[in-house]
Amino acid sequence: MPQLRTKGREMLRCRRCGSVFPEGKATRDGWRYECPEDGCDATGLGEALIPIDD
Ligand SMILES: [Zn+2]
Repeated sequence: MPQLRTKGREMLRCRRCGSVFPEGKATRDGWRYECPEDGCDATGLGEALIPIDD
């Protein structure tokens, strides 16, 4: 049972709690994004969750 999809390997950072996680961990359907951290309800790609360019 994979926890991460093979697509969506871009890293995102949560502006609310500061955690960093792969894009695939923050969305199930590629449309609605939310922070995977427990107790953090930040949502929205490009809003609370911002892509990290490296
Ligand atoms: Zn968060």
